[in-house]
Amino acid sequence: MNYPLKPAPTGATTTDIPFNKACLLGNEMVYIMECLDQGHLAGNGAFTKKCEQYFEQRFGIAKALMTTSCTDALEMSAILMDLQPGDEVIMPSYTFVSTANAFLLRGANIVFADSEADTPNIDVHKLEALITDKTKAIVIVHYAGMACHMDALLELTRRHNLFLVEDAAHAIDAYYKGKPLGTFGHLATFSFHETKNIICGEGGLLAINDPALIERAEIIREKGTNRLAFFRGQVDKYTWQDIGSSFLPADYVAAFLWAQLENMEKIQARRLEIWQQYYELLKPLEEKGLLQLPHLPQGASNNAHMFYLVCQSLEQRSHIIDTLKKDKVQAVFHYLPLHDSPYYQPRHDGRALPNVMRYADCLLRLPLFFELSAEQVSRVAKLVIAACVSYEMSGPER
Ligand SMILES: *Cc1c(COP(=O)(O)O)cnc(C)c1O
Repeated sequence: MNYPLKPAPTGATTTDIPFNKACLLGNEMVYIMECLDQGHLAGNGAFTKKCEQYFEQRFGIAKALMTTSCTDALEMSAILMDLQPGDEVIMPSYTFVSTANAFLLRGANIVFADSEADTPNIDVHKLEALITDKTKAIVIVHYAGMACHMDALLELTRRHNLFLVEDAAHAIDAYYKGKPLGTFGHLATFSFHETKNIICGEGGLLAINDPALIERAEIIREKGTNRLAFFRGQVDKYTWQDIGSSFLPADYVAAFLWAQLENMEKIQARRLEIWQQYYELLKPLEEKGLLQLPHLPQGASNNAHMFYLVCQSLEQRSHIIDTLKKDKVQAVFHYLPLHDSPYYQPRHDGRALPNVMRYADCLLRLPLFFELSAEQVSRVAKLVIAACVSYEMSGPER
């Protein structure tokens, strides 16, 4: 089926190759129409259940609950761990604001940790020193879908009796030693925002791996009521049981998502090809010491969420971005350090987080989306190489 609507790539008017373009597989509208025909538009309809079962069966998650966003799934996690004002939550500074906001909203203090030298993931070896008697949880982000060091993290969180939450927004269909990411923490959160591998515009999912948290999670998602148990026929009326909010997406959002999940293999295979093509074409730059390519940590798989480079300096990165922009190719940097943000800087304890600062200045993301052709990848890679060469040649005058 052809779509009446095609999403416009971001910056379409000025860009030949945008950084991202939402990917459509063909059945999104078909399933949305099916959902409308069925007449169940609110949450928890047939498509919501299909998507949740997919996650439970494919990845071995005890209970999957669709949410309106990964942000909401993180907020549910914060409610589920019963944070008290003054409790501390440790997380990376190099992440999206939602990772931190969700816990701040419950009154927690955030303790930001540095990234590793080798990857933007949280540096597990620097965490023990940050744990106090107020520490309640460690929240990790599998950056670019690359697994954090889960063996060491699980050992640490078990020894200190801490909650472990995986912000798996980048990490669908990614693995650590063969086990899916999103199945290690007590809780894990996925995103289907249009910039991720599998999308529905705005959407998310809470993965609950600790069965003791399931019943309460269902209540929190339904505005603090046991409405789900009511619809299952387990209670004869539904009542206010707990705090909660409106975290459940419409079923036609899940219908869109279902069309994507059905095509998981196809999407992932194409993304991996693109990733691999970039890697091969740009390897010579790393061999010449001009910049760094991504290196998968030990035990981590690659879900091709992102292809990033680590430049030598902010200056070199700006030169590459400008060179690509002149040729209408959009490459973008990523997170601004949360510990150094206008909101959090006055609250941060002053510790220097040098690796975070380096990724903030030097990390660059290249276009990567399902429809990107081999010719386009090759054109982007050539431009990056040309930019590195011209940057080196301009050396003395810089
Ligand atoms: C995208 C993203 C989020 C937020 O996801 P939404 O679904 O847009 O709320 C949270 N954390 C990380 C690391 C992300 O990349």
